[in-house]
Amino acid sequence: MDIKPEIYLYNTLSKQKEIFVPINPSRVSFYLCGPTVYDRATIGNFRTYIFGDLLRRVFQYDNYKVKYVQNITDVGHLTSDSDEGEDKMEKGAKKIGKSAWDVADYFIKLYWEDSDKLNISRPDISSRATDPESMADQIYIVKRLRDLGYAYETSDGIYFDTSKQKEYGKLASLDIAGLKEGARVKKNQEKKNITDFALWKFSPIQHNLEQTKRQMEWKSPWGDRMGFPGWHVECSAISIKRLGEPFDIHAGGVDLIPIHHTNEIAQNEALYGHKTVNYWMHGGFVIVDGQRMGKSLGNACTVKDLEDKGFDPLAFRYLTLTAHYRQPLNFTWESLEQANNAYNKIIKKIAGALEKVETDSDTMGQEFEEKFLEAINDDLNMPRALAVMWEVLDSKNISSQIKYGTLLKFDRIFGLSLEEKIKGKKVELREVITTTLPKEVLKMLEESNQARKNKNWQKSDELRKKLIEMGYEVIDTGTERTVRSILPWS
Ligand code: AMP
Ligand code: ZN
Repeated sequence: MDIKPEIYLYNTLSKQKEIFVPINPSRVSFYLCGPTVYDRATIGNFRTYIFGDLLRRVFQYDNYKVKYVQNITDVGHLTSDSDEGEDKMEKGAKKIGKSAWDVADYFIKLYWEDSDKLNISRPDISSRATDPESMADQIYIVKRLRDLGYAYETSDGIYFDTSKQKEYGKLASLDIAGLKEGARVKKNQEKKNITDFALWKFSPIQHNLEQTKRQMEWKSPWGDRMGFPGWHVECSAISIKRLGEPFDIHAGGVDLIPIHHTNEIAQNEALYGHKTVNYWMHGGFVIVDGQRMGKSLGNACTVKDLEDKGFDPLAFRYLTLTAHYRQPLNFTWESLEQANNAYNKIIKKIAGALEKVETDSDTMGQEFEEKFLEAINDDLNMPRALAVMWEVLDSKNISSQIKYGTLLKFDRIFGLSLEEKIKGKKVELREVITTTLPKEVLKMLEESNQARKNKNWQKSDELRKKLIEMGYEVIDTGTERTVRSILPWS
């Protein structure tokens, strides 16, 4: 049996570093909250995805198989994380006069392009919130939470009743009593508790005005009204669908602790009655002038901005390695310049090492590798791992050949494309799976929806029968037909 090194990870839930014990001894199931695609992702967002990528690489380095899942929020994330304001997607679409669907497609494409430039390895599965299967799962979860008595209906949606959960807020150590007292005006008068959150929102179409009609909306089991899922439901649905429950690690940026992840835990534990995620991990912010870098805060910088100023995006990747992932990273152009210089120096030194043999001694190679392994397995201590890399670069007690091999091995973690930079080798991109439904089923769904549009009920019924025979649950919502496959929560 292969013995794996010990890995220590900081778990937000226990507020301490813990030794990592996977559910399956050779596999790690890992979910990271993906982007909300109403705008181009910032380098702040990408710091979090680099953190996710590093975590995956550490497990792979330690010989684990990793299943890495991400969502794409293309509906339901409101301008305020606590369910107030407009849907970010619809707002973004109005701003540029395009459809919300076009906006999502456009920014998803840019997200992958920028992500590739930062050499962030793509997740194994990336699922959109609006994916028909995800949507059916989200509706199912809301229905189930209602059946279990955790949800109630108001005039604008279905809400989760947080008073039904004794441990609500444990991830963020929320002071519920203090929150109640501090909230002088409860914005939504129909909410039973200040912390209750939307599972499903009704579209404001009662007046059927063009201005208020939503572009992204679905028929729901709650009366005739169209609607859309709350942001938190999406991550519960996608993570458990793809990884099962419990799964090992759920991660995101620190801002997600008090609301998004707190509410995901509430939903999941209401559905199952037990813990569904073992380790919660959170990355620190990229900060500009003491403030979080954010799309809506006017201080954002994108990969394109880096390129426009002549920087290799990988210089930013290097910069992120210089701070521990849980610490804030202060971004300035000067710090990027320094990172860029250091990065170029590494490339030069390695190229130099290839050319000349400094010594025949290999005595230090193993020692460096051990120090490196200890650093990366100590809650992803990349600054310490980088320091080991510099020691190797400057060491006179290691042969060039071993030096080169060791540095490339380290780069399996850092992802600085060192070999590519030195030898012009191309990086291979991983293909992302967006839906697990077989092509045949997707085709049948398309035919079903066409038949239903044409009011060809006979054909629609035949297709429904076939899908059921194939083991799917068929869900017809208005003109849309969707299916659910494996049912991990029923
Ligand atoms: P969003 O696209 O706003 O849903 O955010 C996507 C991810 O980026 C989430 O995990 C956030 O926590 C993270 N994030 C947002 N702003 C920053 C920032 N300034 N620095 C690091 N991560 C961030
Ligand atoms: Zn999420």
